Amino acid sequence: MTVLGQETIERVRRQTSLVAVVQQVVRLQRRGRSFVGLCPFHKEKTPSFHVNDERGFYHCFGCKASGDAIKFVQEMQGVSFAEAIQELADRAGIEIVEERSAEDSRAHAESRRRLLELFEVGNAAASYFEQALRDHPLRSQAIAELARRELVASTPTDAIADALQSFRVGYAPYGWDESLRHLRNLGFSMKAAESVGLAVPRRSGSGHYDRFRHRLMFAVLDLQGRVIAFSGRDLPDPEPADLKRAGILSASESDAPATRAKYMNSPESPIYKKRETLFGLYQARQSLRDQGRAILVEGNFDVVSMHARGLRNVIAPLGTAFTLEQAKLLRRQAPDIIMMLDGDSAGRRAVLAAREAIRDAGLGCRVVNLPDGIDPDEFVRKSGPDAVRNAIESARGLLQHLIDTCLDSGFTKDDPLTRAAKIKEVAELIATETNPEARTMAENYADVVAARLNISDAPTFKALLRRIRTANSSAAEASHPMGALERQASSPNKGDAVALEVFGCILDWPELLKDPQVEGALSLTEGDIALALALARRNFLGQKADCVEEFLAKIPVSIHAFAASRLAAPRHNRLEDARTVLLKNVSKLMRLEQHRRRPEDLEAIQRAAASGDFDAELELLRRHERLARVRHGVGER
Ligand SMILES: [Zn+2]
Repeated sequence: MTVLGQETIERVRRQTSLVAVVQQVVRLQRRGRSFVGLCPFHKEKTPSFHVNDERGFYHCFGCKASGDAIKFVQEMQGVSFAEAIQELADRAGIEIVEERSAEDSRAHAESRRRLLELFEVGNAAASYFEQALRDHPLRSQAIAELARRELVASTPTDAIADALQSFRVGYAPYGWDESLRHLRNLGFSMKAAESVGLAVPRRSGSGHYDRFRHRLMFAVLDLQGRVIAFSGRDLPDPEPADLKRAGILSASESDAPATRAKYMNSPESPIYKKRETLFGLYQARQSLRDQGRAILVEGNFDVVSMHARGLRNVIAPLGTAFTLEQAKLLRRQAPDIIMMLDGDSAGRRAVLAAREAIRDAGLGCRVVNLPDGIDPDEFVRKSGPDAVRNAIESARGLLQHLIDTCLDSGFTKDDPLTRAAKIKEVAELIATETNPEARTMAENYADVVAARLNISDAPTFKALLRRIRTANSSAAEASHPMGALERQASSPNKGDAVALEVFGCILDWPELLKDPQVEGALSLTEGDIALALALARRNFLGQKADCVEEFLAKIPVSIHAFAASRLAAPRHNRLEDARTVLLKNVSKLMRLEQHRRRPEDLEAIQRAAASGDFDAELELLRRHERLARVRHGVGER
């Protein structure tokens, strides 16, 4: 047990791998000494988010977000500093006692305990449902449903067994309070069970009953693998003989709803927000990062079925249209999405409905056309995983899919009214497209569209599209920060750039500050760089554990952005390279300086530089530096 003080914070920092924390939400790839991925704080197509695990520091070259693990958790989850420390401490197995008033600390501990109980009651219920699928006397309909989906494991370790286990598939018993009795026996309060939606208060006002009864259950997990909700599929009633054998006479009760929904999901709770949850995201996370794309399906069975057949990057929204929150959540794991929705009109409407969220989150999207009336579960069972992979490879872009769908449905070429309506519909689809590649595609596609719409003058249609494209592209450019940034970075003052690179080498390898030759060279630097180097020496070589945030806070504003980006993305992988570049740049810096002051001195120094004799050159530079100082009345150091 430790108290939340500076020491604990440092310990949490030391024991936290920033890459591990970031990787929970962002797909990262190693590049040199750092990792890069798509920034979770702004919309982008190419990765500009850098994470340096050695320094525990991240920086986005696009939106300039930067910080350490604590800041990352704070910003990502919208929590306070103390809450972020708490979460990181939990991960690292560090227990924290906070310095609060006794009353505060009791209230805090109590709310934390209540929240933990919600996760625990969910976990206990999931275990209970799993056990009931193995041994409950009325489980046969659940088993039959799994068999119908060909989800019967042959061995306890095959892919199907693995899928059933990772989705915690179970059976919620028939009857009215079997699950709740079990949870009560384990010591859980009905308040907790009600809070996560497992218990429903009786209308009579006394007691609770099970929300999920006689259903095939899927647990919904958060990104840490904790049970936050359930989704239950309705099952046919048990045979009367089975009921009799189980000693149950009737389950009818006045609280029973007249009709049962095919799927029932937990209501929202303090730990479950359906708009911010994706079914299967936890199980898919590794595969999403490996493949860089997600397959979006509609139902739980689609997810489990594909997973059982080796397609693990599959996710589904939970009884909602695909939301922007879900799209953003997904985007931190994979930049592309493949929509594989049921081949019926509802599936087609779902594609259109998801378009805005996909566009706003900046996801790349293609659509797989399934045969009419076939869902992904059936498709993968009947045709096999390779057919799914092939279908994905030949999937069309979202815009093209929407145009085709629009032209395929209810359209007679010869009727001018419907044709005019279709032209308008297609033009609107293209007008609202913000992805530049998709727009280009749409323009190239215009001939095909024009032919299909029986428009005699394709050029008119093309001209219309071009107008839309021009309007859109100037809007897109204005909202894209990287272009402006690159332009700005390409023309810095020459001397500044050289001095910055000296500082950059030190940020890459602070150990260089202990190198005598480097030390000698650095004594010639001036201004902000000299100050920054002194700060670096104190921070990275001093007694105190290095905290990048504190270091940056003291760095002069003029070079702050450079320091932040360099700390997140070191340039030199080897100390030796950094040393060579640093020494070269110090001489260059001094040459520039001398050039400005006394051009006539330059020759001797240039000769020494050309001969590669650094010591001689350095000596000359020192001499001239001393002279310059005397001349300018600075005095000798
Ligand atoms: Zn960013």
